[in-house]
Amino acid sequence: MGLVVQKYGGSSVADAEGIKRVAKRIVEAKKNGHQVVVVVSAMGDTTDELIDLAGQVSPMPAGREFDMLLTAGERISMALLAMAIKNLGHEAQSFTGSQAGVITDSVHNKARIIDVTPGRIRTALDEGNIAIVAGFQGVSQDKKDITTLGRGGSDTTAVALAAALDAEVCEIYTDVDGVFTADPRVVKKARKIDWISFEDMLELASSGSKVLLHRCVEYARRYNIPIHVRSSFSGLQGTWVSSEPPVRKTQQQGDQKVEQAIISGVAHDTSEAKITVVGVPDKPGEAASIFRTIADAEINLDMVVQNVSAASTGLTDISFTLPKTEGRKAIDALERNKHGIGFDSLRYDDQIGKISLVGAGMKTNPGVTASFFEALSDAGVNIELISTSEIRISVVTRADDVTEAVRAVHTAFGLDSDSDEAVVYGGTGR
Ligand code: ADP
Ligand code: ASP
Ligand code: MG
Repeated sequence: MGLVVQKYGGSSVADAEGIKRVAKRIVEAKKNGHQVVVVVSAMGDTTDELIDLAGQVSPMPAGREFDMLLTAGERISMALLAMAIKNLGHEAQSFTGSQAGVITDSVHNKARIIDVTPGRIRTALDEGNIAIVAGFQGVSQDKKDITTLGRGGSDTTAVALAAALDAEVCEIYTDVDGVFTADPRVVKKARKIDWISFEDMLELASSGSKVLLHRCVEYARRYNIPIHVRSSFSGLQGTWVSSEPPVRKTQQQGDQKVEQAIISGVAHDTSEAKITVVGVPDKPGEAASIFRTIADAEINLDMVVQNVSAASTGLTDISFTLPKTEGRKAIDALERNKHGIGFDSLRYDDQIGKISLVGAGMKTNPGVTASFFEALSDAGVNIELISTSEIRISVVTRADDVTEAVRAVHTAFGLDSDSDEAVVYGGTGR
């Protein structure tokens, strides 16, 4: 029996009962002969509450202090979980990210892991302990300050530890039974996916399926760590995310590889905003200086479009989308460089939503794009921006249209399940 890393999200440890339930599950894995490393998130919506609290004392909290505050959430759950395990008669020790050897760069609020040195975790395991690690945090290599990895970052902590400890699997326990063909909170008829490739999962995650964080999937692909996403509330098998499809035994044909679906699913995202830079001179270098300004402010963009230049004015508009949380920073940075760039005005719109269709089968099945746009048109949804990759089509619409659009596309591609409705066991969806 090898080493497993288990990650429990906030909804799985929302209260004392949740912590005790999870503790039992961890002890089961230990009793089955595994060495167990657990990564735990803050209880319930604690992180959101801490963010709200910070906002009440300062409109722009300093990154260092903000991170110090947020990591407190995971410290509470790690200590309580270790206590609950000890209460069941098993040895457990809790560790902060820093103690667990999670070394990051020094970009507060969205630090990247640059090294993992889990010496203390190894020792704890060798001594027969269950190791509990606070997710979503590390320590910066140069300044030795406490950092956080960005929202949902405990997923990344789990995969990074699984890679560093050479775990056989990284189990992500959450409040739904796995990865579904759409968010079960929006599409009741969403279907659980048994296996999905790293590539399709990466696209779903970066398009807004927050069941797994994009960076965590990237990390897992790089180190080839299989992820098993499953519910901490049920005993069901969940979704395997890995490079190769698993082999299943069938009665008629013997061993068969699980087939990859043409379309993996529909993702949606209402966490982005759109900025339009109006009246940009239509000459070389303009887009470069706009996006250099945004990059220097350390903001990641998503979609970009430039409208056709109106020949009579020699001016053009450039729109792009970015996380709402970065909106203020982007507007300020552009305003500061207004004369250097030379535009007329800025428009900010945070009432947008994005819908994406993901599947490797798009490459070889003509007509997917046409069917996608037909489904949106039949649902009366107006499209504002379009972007595509080899295995994804995304559109931006009004935020109010997103639910309707996701359901329409899900049905149009035959993804609706005809059996059990997808279960959401907990969480507030915040
Ligand atoms: P945790 O607290 O366990 O980290 P999250 O809230 O981050 O949980 O992620 C789980 C949630 O992700 C689910 O409750 C569900 O609403 C949402 N979700 C979005 N897209 C999907 C999808 N395709 N499959 C499953 N869950 C999804
Ligand atoms: N508690 C952090 C958050 O809510 C990290 C996590 O849950 O993964 O974003
Ligand atoms: Mg999460």
